[in-house]
Amino acid sequence: MARDKDLILVVDDSPTNLAILNVVLRDIYQVITCNNGADALTLAAAEEPDLIILDIMMPGMDGYEICDRLKANPATRDIPVMFVTAMDQERQEAKGLALGAVDYIAKPVSQPIVLARVRNQLELKKQRDYLRRLSAIDGLTGIANRRAFEEDFDREWRRCVRLKSSLCVYLTDIDNFKAYNDAYGYLAGDDCLRILAQAMTKALMRPGDILARYSGEEFVGLMPDTDASGAAIVGERLLNATRALSLPHAHSGTAPIVTVSIGVAVCRPVPSSDRASLFKLAGDALYAAKKGGRNQVRVFEMPDSVTAI
Ligand code: GH3
Ligand code: MG
Ligand code: MG
Repeated sequence: MARDKDLILVVDDSPTNLAILNVVLRDIYQVITCNNGADALTLAAAEEPDLIILDIMMPGMDGYEICDRLKANPATRDIPVMFVTAMDQERQEAKGLALGAVDYIAKPVSQPIVLARVRNQLELKKQRDYLRRLSAIDGLTGIANRRAFEEDFDREWRRCVRLKSSLCVYLTDIDNFKAYNDAYGYLAGDDCLRILAQAMTKALMRPGDILARYSGEEFVGLMPDTDASGAAIVGERLLNATRALSLPHAHSGTAPIVTVSIGVAVCRPVPSSDRASLFKLAGDALYAAKKGGRNQVRVFEMPDSVTAI
């Protein structure tokens, strides 16, 4: 979450300790505090702090258990956790590190050491976040890459199973793109991919709709909670967004401009069904769109007999 100042959540049952750490940190960071595990878990999920500083010994849920639960929740597991511990508690340190904590602050706290350790951890977190974002982006077009798509597909699939709602996967492939590269050059081909990626992203209206570059000149997308008729409408919109660019393609054989073919597969996922079969069906639909003359969308529905075994 982008904010002016990094946000640190400090959890300690002792008001004195909370006050000390607050004084040490508050000039540089935004600090929120709480004194028990339940509030810590709620605040961590709601506020997404950049760092959590946890006391170990607390009545009820202790620091270890809080850390364990933070790491078990996908919404909070990437937030770095530092424990506050007394100087001589080596065993505690080992246990905390094994649970996924990144560092320790020794009691009694020393201001310069706390600030240095906190700064280090926040810096590392920024680098991790940056790498994570980078690893999800396609270098050429700037949209999501195949790896990000696979993660989204898995998540959306499971969500649609849970909510018993329908899911569409679509595959978009540029028509006669080899001829485009041959005629205009590979760099112009790259420009075409960038322009198309932006235009198709704009044509998707719902926040849950996802578009990624799958490989070469193929894009892949997801439309959650969308049935076959909705998918056909969005497919037409993507075709139109491409045609509206009017990128000349004198050697296409399909049209004098760049066009795409789109295959969409729709199903209502159930636990026994397999997301790979939905993806394959999208490939079949794309093949049918190519066979049918390109510059068109085909929507295939997974029969209920397959999805509802
Ligand atoms: P079809 O209408 O059947 O899809 O024909 P096509 O020529 O588009 O299909 P084919 O799969 O034969 O060719 C895909 C071409 O896409 C091959 C390659 O020249 C081009 N291509 C793949 N990746 C890139 C890329 O990153 N940049 C550029 N400029 N071209 C690419
Ligand atoms: Mg292709
Ligand atoms: Mg192609």
